[in-house]
Amino acid sequence: MPFLTLENVTHHYFTKDGYTKALDDISFSVKEGEFVSLLGPSGCGKSTILSIVSGIMDQTLGKVHLDNKPIDESELAIGYMLQQDYLFPWKTILDNVLIGPKIQENIHVDLKEKAVELLNEVGLKNVENQYPSSLSGGMRQRVALVRTLITDPKILLLDEPFSALDFQTKLKLEDLVYKLLHAYHKTAILVTHDIGEAIAMSDRIIVMSANPGKIAKTFEVPIELRNEMPFLVRRHPKYQSIFDKVWEELNKNDTENV
Ligand code: ADP
Ligand code: MG
Repeated sequence: MPFLTLENVTHHYFTKDGYTKALDDISFSVKEGEFVSLLGPSGCGKSTILSIVSGIMDQTLGKVHLDNKPIDESELAIGYMLQQDYLFPWKTILDNVLIGPKIQENIHVDLKEKAVELLNEVGLKNVENQYPSSLSGGMRQRVALVRTLITDPKILLLDEPFSALDFQTKLKLEDLVYKLLHAYHKTAILVTHDIGEAIAMSDRIIVMSANPGKIAKTFEVPIELRNEMPFLVRRHPKYQSIFDKVWEELNKNDTENV
């Protein structure tokens, strides 16, 4: 049964000179526990979809349902992770992790323990009382991941969370995120423009094209790849053939000639 559904979603951004059609008739659904990637060039509306799903912004037309309720009536917690970690520099790591529950006035001792446990689980030991400036980019992004998970969201929206990291750190974090989200049986949508990352992490890849943002094609990732850790997917014998198919689809829609 679908957990999240978008039905004929169209979105216009109104500006003083007119409007931009950012999304044109987008329909797809995501099952509970499924990991779906939105892949496409800059400006094709990937972040717009996540803003709408998160409830931050209302779509111009169409319907969005989460767990059978219109998104604006849903009470399920949604986790959002972005390219930049947005940690508050003047707050300790523990206070940064607990910022969501604090806003919801939901802090208790168990939650502090859970925060420390989760930090340990992502490989961050004894950092609770440190400040973000003393951590590397990869460590900070792991703190951002813990901050996202602490509210126990039912769906995670990941907007290019690895794209500001160096390649080695990115590969390690992909494995970590994959492992954690599968262990906790989370539903997730990952936005990326990296084909390899989409194949390595997801069950399904929705390829988009721009001007206006549309769904071009959807690819099921072969089961053998879905069950492997992202790092190993890239070396799997079946990896290259799906990479080539996705590459071809993206190129079909690419108007830029190099
Ligand atoms: P992506 O995340 O795939 O790069 P976006 O969802 O950010 O794409 O943007 C889709 C389109 O909407 C682009 O043409 C972009 O310029 C436009 N857009 C995004 N945000 C705004 C905004 N706040 N106001 C006006 N246009 C916007
Ligand atoms: Mg974006």
